[in-house]
Amino acid sequence: MSSNKAPKNCVFYRNQNWIYPRIEKGEGIYLIGENGKKYIDGCSGSAVANIGHGNKEIAEFAKGHIERIAFTHLSRWTVDSIEKCAEKIVSWCPKGLNHVYFVSGGSEATETAMKMARQYYVERDGNKSSKWKIISKWNSYHGATLGSLSMTGTIGRRKIYDPLLTNFPKISQFYHYRNPWGARTLEETSILAAKELETEIQRHGSDNIAAFISEPVVGSAAPGSHPEKIYFDMVREICDKYDILFIMDEVMAGSGRTGKKMASNHFDAKPDIIVVAKGLSSGYTPIGAAVCSSEVFETIMVRGSGNFIHGHTYAGNPLSCGIANKVMEIIERDKFIENCAVQGNYLMKKLEDLYNYPIVGDIRGKGLMIGVEFVKDQETKEPFDVFSNVRGKITNNCLEEGLVPYPGGGSVDGVRGDHILLAPPINITKEEVDLLYEKLEKAIKKTS
Ligand code: PLP
Repeated sequence: MSSNKAPKNCVFYRNQNWIYPRIEKGEGIYLIGENGKKYIDGCSGSAVANIGHGNKEIAEFAKGHIERIAFTHLSRWTVDSIEKCAEKIVSWCPKGLNHVYFVSGGSEATETAMKMARQYYVERDGNKSSKWKIISKWNSYHGATLGSLSMTGTIGRRKIYDPLLTNFPKISQFYHYRNPWGARTLEETSILAAKELETEIQRHGSDNIAAFISEPVVGSAAPGSHPEKIYFDMVREICDKYDILFIMDEVMAGSGRTGKKMASNHFDAKPDIIVVAKGLSSGYTPIGAAVCSSEVFETIMVRGSGNFIHGHTYAGNPLSCGIANKVMEIIERDKFIENCAVQGNYLMKKLEDLYNYPIVGDIRGKGLMIGVEFVKDQETKEPFDVFSNVRGKITNNCLEEGLVPYPGGGSVDGVRGDHILLAPPINITKEEVDLLYEKLEKAIKKTS
């Protein structure tokens, strides 16, 4: 039976209750609708379009690249752009992560890291290795494919697929605002969250655990939440003690988004594998990567079978690699990461004023990856009930004002959070930040 809500075209959109404004083009931090309406892209799609829209340098580069070559398969050939991009990614990662396995996006990248961890232990300890489980966190998001969804801890995204998923162990996230321990300081939350990792490893037996995966700064589920450095110090120590690999999911927080090349650098974190995607090519082409240590690489590729049993046709797409490399060159040359740190601090200071609105409960983040959480009661932190759809109302009011935020929504103990993520292009100017704030404040005022 056809519904009167059925869209007028053939696109399988994600949500039929949503109006999808048609976008004609993008210019810098703006998206421009077919009626000429200008929207500040306040979330860069979903922390993707890091250097903004309509970049002429990228357009010219892409044209030249396409004229030269369409595609080569990475199982047989290599291309200059692939090698240069890998070198550049390694130079952006914490020291010791030296080998880049290319894929086409974030879910493929986290799933690659998961398989890499499993194969690492099989190559090192033999086929009988019992190390395969990946510990992750409740209310986390690591992707939509079955492996990455198995690591994802957001109940709403998992529920109906549960029979298809692997039941990996989950621990609490470092969501200080709603931490389950009643901790008063971020440091205390960080320590207690890390201690849960050790307890969970002991419960399952370290012989059965291959890896622990974490975001450095949380993206969609509790946007902007992050621990203190001590968390990642403890995670490293625990992983070493129990012989477990540490995977850092920088799909959203990496590639300059938080005011450092990788968000791991804020915490001096030392993962064995980092996964990146989204902002890596600033959305001009799909790309993702899992970047591993020499120990992981050499165990599989030098001392082991020499064959990572994995691969996607578009892994190492020469155009995607060329564009990602060009994006990173532009970011370095034009000092966009430095700009991101400065404008991120400036925006964060301005946002503090939003606490004057009683529906604003918490504001947190790093660089230009900032979450604003809305509550029914500022004092008790009581959330709005699910049906009030406050994040939907805020999002719609922002759209009316000409601002596109990212409506995040995780759940803690079954309570859905009402948050938005602000993640505008990292080359945003101070004047543009002022305008973004003005629009956001008007939308919140209208919703309050
Ligand atoms: N990991 C994190 C932290 C993400 O935020 C996302 C996407 O939002 C993913 C993985 C999945 O990436 P993709 O949507 O490119 O498959």
